[in-house]
Amino acid sequence: MSTAFGQSTVLGYPRIGGNRELKQAVEAYWAGKVDAGALARTTAGLRAGVWQTLRDAGLGAIPSNTFSYYDHVLDTAVAVGAIPARFARLGLSELDTYFAMARGVDAEPALELTKWFDTNYHYLVPEIGPDTVFAANPVKALGEVAEASALGIATRPVLVGPATFLLLAKGEDPFARLDDLVEVYAQILAVLAVSGVAWVQLDEPAYAADRTPEEIDGLRRAYTRLGELTDRPKLFVATYFGELGDALPALLATPVEAIGLDLVAGPGNLDRLAAARSLAGKTIVAGLVDGHNIWRTDLRAAAALGGRVAELADHVAVSTSCSLLHVPVDLAAETGLDPRLAERLAFARQKVDEVILLGRAVRDRIADLPAPLPPAPAAWRNDQVRARLAGLTPQDRQRTGYAARAAAQQQRLGLPELPTTTIGSFPQTAELRQARAALRAGSLDQAGYVERMRAEVEHVIRLQEELGLDVLVHGEPERNDMVQYFGEQLDGFAATEHGWVQSYGSRCVRPPIIHGDVARPRPMTVEWSTYAQSLTAKPVKGMLTGPVTILAWSFVRTDQPLADTADQVALALRDECRDLEAAGIPVIQVDEPALRETLPLRTAAQKVYLDWAVGAFRLATSGVADDTQIHTHLCYSEFGEVITAIDALDADVTSIEASRSKMEILADLAAIGYSRGVGPGVWDIHSPRVPSHDEVAEALRRAVAAVPARRLWVNPDCGLKTRGYTEVEASLRHLVAAAAEVRG
Ligand code: GLN
Ligand code: ZN
Repeated sequence: MSTAFGQSTVLGYPRIGGNRELKQAVEAYWAGKVDAGALARTTAGLRAGVWQTLRDAGLGAIPSNTFSYYDHVLDTAVAVGAIPARFARLGLSELDTYFAMARGVDAEPALELTKWFDTNYHYLVPEIGPDTVFAANPVKALGEVAEASALGIATRPVLVGPATFLLLAKGEDPFARLDDLVEVYAQILAVLAVSGVAWVQLDEPAYAADRTPEEIDGLRRAYTRLGELTDRPKLFVATYFGELGDALPALLATPVEAIGLDLVAGPGNLDRLAAARSLAGKTIVAGLVDGHNIWRTDLRAAAALGGRVAELADHVAVSTSCSLLHVPVDLAAETGLDPRLAERLAFARQKVDEVILLGRAVRDRIADLPAPLPPAPAAWRNDQVRARLAGLTPQDRQRTGYAARAAAQQQRLGLPELPTTTIGSFPQTAELRQARAALRAGSLDQAGYVERMRAEVEHVIRLQEELGLDVLVHGEPERNDMVQYFGEQLDGFAATEHGWVQSYGSRCVRPPIIHGDVARPRPMTVEWSTYAQSLTAKPVKGMLTGPVTILAWSFVRTDQPLADTADQVALALRDECRDLEAAGIPVIQVDEPALRETLPLRTAAQKVYLDWAVGAFRLATSGVADDTQIHTHLCYSEFGEVITAIDALDADVTSIEASRSKMEILADLAAIGYSRGVGPGVWDIHSPRVPSHDEVAEALRRAVAAVPARRLWVNPDCGLKTRGYTEVEASLRHLVAAAAEVRG
């Protein structure tokens, strides 16, 4: 077996299948419709399909163990034996223990699910403590290597590296266990070597974020130890999502054979490489093709960059910047896209071809690569929007002082102390989804669809009146998704038919593509909100998704600064706010659940991001009169570095998740001087449990102790779309009654 790395590779490939076969297979298994054997067979077909695709394309080096039944971080936890006792003791089969960790069972809640760096993929957080007993379990990695080998394909198994694994874990000082864990990796490497594996890929993306000197030293120690092993495959340490900084020299000082650098999200990696003392004997795997966005690569520019790496390093290979997990599978499946857009796109399959072409170009110093595409068609430009952007002044992002606004709003709304409300959505019932499917299939016409949705709005309004809520919502029955819904109505966005990307487990999303200037041809939500308002004398809250969240959950254009795209979206939302206001809607909520997730990994870049993110929100919401009340909603309570930005949003009311953290966030908000309305969630809607009256009252009493009652709102943690009506009714009844009691 050759031990050269190969001139082209990818760090990973989508595992869901071109038609979300993985979703169907695991969901059928969960529902008891197929057994473990059938699940294994179906997914073996998916894995084989990926390897054959990569081989037939001519890729130089092919990864394996990038498949997962649910999540690759969970797979790594299993590979090192880090199964928390609470799951091990359930006595389930290996597969069912795995799914219990991923999804929870009656007796045990699942591992925590959280964002994978600055992507929209979520991983399961390993629980590691001083008592965790690690044990090598290379069965899955070996199995994939053998499956591929049976097809005649030699592969490079991929695992999350030991340092990143511990940095992603929670528990009592997980990183203190690094040396123990490294010994387990040593055992895994030994077993792989015996099986004839030539290369292993260990992913260390955690080093693209700020790290302490101790953490960087841990990286050096880990790979020095693994590098010193005599019987081991060659080591490829892959990093991605940004710049390595001081971790690069640390890694270069170890005996690993190959290091992967993201040159798309981390252009500064090149300078760091140039400054390195010695690259002798190392293969540098240059991440030149963006694995995190869907645009075709400018091959000439990428090859030039690859050429510069080649001047520095002994060996160069070309790769994607990160795993292709974050892009859809194949552009060829899209038949409905504007051809002028389609020719600019590359999904995973197309990116493989780019990597191969670039690998050859860098090796053979080929210069005659295809020219970059001409600038975007003029039709995607909107001069009116551009002129508006150019003419913006700071006043456009500034409302009157809060005291005056609060007084005007109170006079208009006449709300009681501790007003009750919800976050927007009511249950998305099977009937609502069926109606949407029927509309798409053509068996229900637009008028019939609108009629059904209106019936639902009426139902939701009547229910809220009966329950006695103070600020009502229309329930969002017409929304498939809080970003897609707006993307479908705005110019500059395109939707795909099959562009699915894994979000977590079997959940996939189809992010819209922002390709041109954003404009709003017509009002988007006004009819729904005004219909709801026409049914009640209580105030109805209009419901919009904020600019940062719309960008975060879309594929964004890269031919202009993100800040400009955010402002274009903000202008569309500003017009929508004004139209809602003119139609008599007194309260408007602009959701920004993604504000924190797109925070850059490096502190140095965070201020710039937060400035434009806050600026865009304020641009969207500052066009209304003093007596229109602006709410925002954030889906988490660990604000950390974004807490001052949340204050800077200047919303009249901020609703946040708080029930799990027992209202601790209120003290944090008070500490930074937040002085406007706040609605800490008093009901954890992520669980099907109905909170009791006393629980809600107790949460409210804690809240009243931390925030003056006149600024406090009473609401659930998040929208109710994933809940059923039975729980929603019972829970809201407790919520309203508890608010009344605490008011008294
Ligand atoms: N208004 C949205 C809803 O209630 C908010 C959801 C979210 O922030 N994730 O569903
Ligand atoms: Zn939420």
